Amino acid sequence: MSTAIINISSLVTNDPSLGEGPLGLVQDAAVVIDGDRVAWIGESSKAPATDNAVDAGGRAVVPGFVDSHSHLVFAGDRTAEFNARMSGRSYSAGGIRTTVAATRAATDEALEANLLRYLTEALRQGTTTFETKSGYGLTTHDEARALRIAAAHTDEVTYLGAHIVAPEFADDPDGYVSLVTGEMLDACAPHARWVDVFCEKGAFDGDQARAILEAGKRHGLVPRVHANQLGHGPGVQLAVEVGAASADHCTHLTDADVDALAQGTTVATLLPGAEFSTRAQWPDARRLLDAGVTVALSTDCNPGSSFTSSMPFCVALAVRDMGMTPDEAVWSATAGGAAALRRTDIGRLTPGARADLALLDAPSHVHLAYRPGVPLVSAVWRRGVREL
Ligand SMILES: [Zn+2]
Repeated sequence: MSTAIINISSLVTNDPSLGEGPLGLVQDAAVVIDGDRVAWIGESSKAPATDNAVDAGGRAVVPGFVDSHSHLVFAGDRTAEFNARMSGRSYSAGGIRTTVAATRAATDEALEANLLRYLTEALRQGTTTFETKSGYGLTTHDEARALRIAAAHTDEVTYLGAHIVAPEFADDPDGYVSLVTGEMLDACAPHARWVDVFCEKGAFDGDQARAILEAGKRHGLVPRVHANQLGHGPGVQLAVEVGAASADHCTHLTDADVDALAQGTTVATLLPGAEFSTRAQWPDARRLLDAGVTVALSTDCNPGSSFTSSMPFCVALAVRDMGMTPDEAVWSATAGGAAALRRTDIGRLTPGARADLALLDAPSHVHLAYRPGVPLVSAVWRRGVREL
């Protein structure tokens, strides 16, 4: 079954060989979907015959958003913490413990229902691929079950046993690292593609983080790192050193950190929802882009420090406060996310790519930043199936 989406005012392909500029923009475009793949891209008037046609009515189409960083296997509510913080108290990593207690107490069914609720919410906002992590169980049993539940809904599953030191190991953090790199890793690795660590004061230091990432690599997992969110530290350079796919947050960077990212293959994933929700300093996307670093944008959706599932909101913040152009922000939320997940089949609309795309109720992708907070996503196709 083939479908042509015709009469697209402006199509973002992220393939410079197909159109104008880094976004490969095609005006008056059509996309032909065959099965779960993109079969053809070009001018609407030249579209080949198909079984079905959908008239985009002069509106814009972008690749489905690739949200490469979220924490969606959780239970509980932290409204009161957010309210307190916005009333004058600063964020500390300890708030995660509240979610850990609620997640451990929840049934599998409750955790899965919560995950599905946020996935549906994200899909309605144009997200067609998401990564999600464990990290609210912090026992072998609870980490493994979080990954099992996540793996039923996405291929991009990350083992984050090293989110914080489990409360039971408060006096023995090295004992917890032994668990995370031993029995817990054995139980979790079969359900995950990635290994992650929160490398930050109050969580895990550089040596502990290196041990956790190297252990994950020995089990076939690829590293990604929560790095330099709350202050300067070893996280970013460690991420590059161990060959991580992504260093996430990158809010507090030295020149050496930026140089390391520019010279390596590690993507810098910026998570402006976290700075928004904690009233923290914005990451400097302009500095990274000017240095030649590949930048991704993602939501960091989690109940503590960034409870948004909206990639369009992150695009708007990145343009308003992080020095990105609208074109750069849209690229980072699509192709950038794909790069952070080392995927070439998503994040772009080019023949052979997965048919994941969003139709905007706007004439241009620029409206994602120009019209912040407005629900512009009016239709979504995922793997060639219209979901919305
Ligand atoms: Zn995170």
